[in-house]
Amino acid sequence: MQEYTEAILKIPLPRGQKVDEMLWHYDKHGEYSVRSGYQIALKLKAPDVPSNSGSNSKRWKAVWSMELPEKIKNFMWRAARNLLPTAENLWKRKCLKDPICQGCNREVETVRHALLDCKAARKIWYHATSSVQISNAQNQDILDFIYEVWSTWGKTEAEQTIAFCWAVWFARNKRIFEGKKSDPRALAAKVESLLEAYHRARKPDASHIHNVKRIVQKKWEPPPGNFLKVNVDAAINNRDQVAGLRAVIKDPSGKIVAAGTKQVPLRVGVSFAEAEAMEWGLQVAKELSLSALIMETDCKEVVDLLNNTKGSRTGISWVISDIQEQRRDFKEVKFRHIPRTCNTCAHSLAKFAVGANTSAV
Ligand SMILES: [Zn+2]
Repeated sequence: MQEYTEAILKIPLPRGQKVDEMLWHYDKHGEYSVRSGYQIALKLKAPDVPSNSGSNSKRWKAVWSMELPEKIKNFMWRAARNLLPTAENLWKRKCLKDPICQGCNREVETVRHALLDCKAARKIWYHATSSVQISNAQNQDILDFIYEVWSTWGKTEAEQTIAFCWAVWFARNKRIFEGKKSDPRALAAKVESLLEAYHRARKPDASHIHNVKRIVQKKWEPPPGNFLKVNVDAAINNRDQVAGLRAVIKDPSGKIVAAGTKQVPLRVGVSFAEAEAMEWGLQVAKELSLSALIMETDCKEVVDLLNNTKGSRTGISWVISDIQEQRRDFKEVKFRHIPRTCNTCAHSLAKFAVGANTSAV
């Protein structure tokens, strides 16, 4: 603020007497414009002090060390340099009438807003398989954000995050220019397969240790000693209006202890069926008198509801409370969300269950 007060004190006064007049000091004609007002507001909110100037090269180094397809790296560079044609940037270049985001019609569309904060972007992030949490630090730019992910979660997670930003931008363009909505799950799968294909092509054999490690991380992980792991999934058949539920129970050595499939009528939607799959998994485990379980699904909504991080008043809450009820019959039950790639075994059998009319354990 001081800087602005000083600037005002520097305004020269007229020598003769003149009638007082309101002038907007920040414009050379003394006229207020939304553009100059917005720029002042921006400066007051986030002064141009290069907050991370000291470690900026460190941040860029981190970005360039990422192993990503060239087009995604390029995208990252443009995003970090604030060169993406967001509404704000187009408006600054006088190509748009206002800087407001078309995704939410509420806020100025900065790069950060388009990729992380906009509700349209959040919808997609919600389905991201990554464990990265987007903080609400609005002052943090995209480069800061990536660096934070890199230093907190590691390089692989940062690579996935950048690739996901790219997918969010892709979906945003599709929405704006083609009027098409992208399916968040399909987008997440696209990002994953893109990265996997890239790493496979890049490291065919020699240094494939890193590659193997990536794949192992993405595969099923054994539960700790006294736990058994239950992977559940639901496959939907819209034509016949049925859902196939599937549960696979494995011991710490990865051996299948039990597997169960069941077909149910398709009711409310995918998440509802995923919750039913979770309930089915518990029933199978109960029949086997198991005591400590880790239940895994690729449906984040169900896990959030079960872990009480999210509430619901829709039909799904009945299934959730049934599951909570049944949970008491066990010594310990943990609910976890995992990427679809880790849940493939349960998923393919859930598909199989869609074809079968009965339930089987
Ligand atoms: Zn928005």
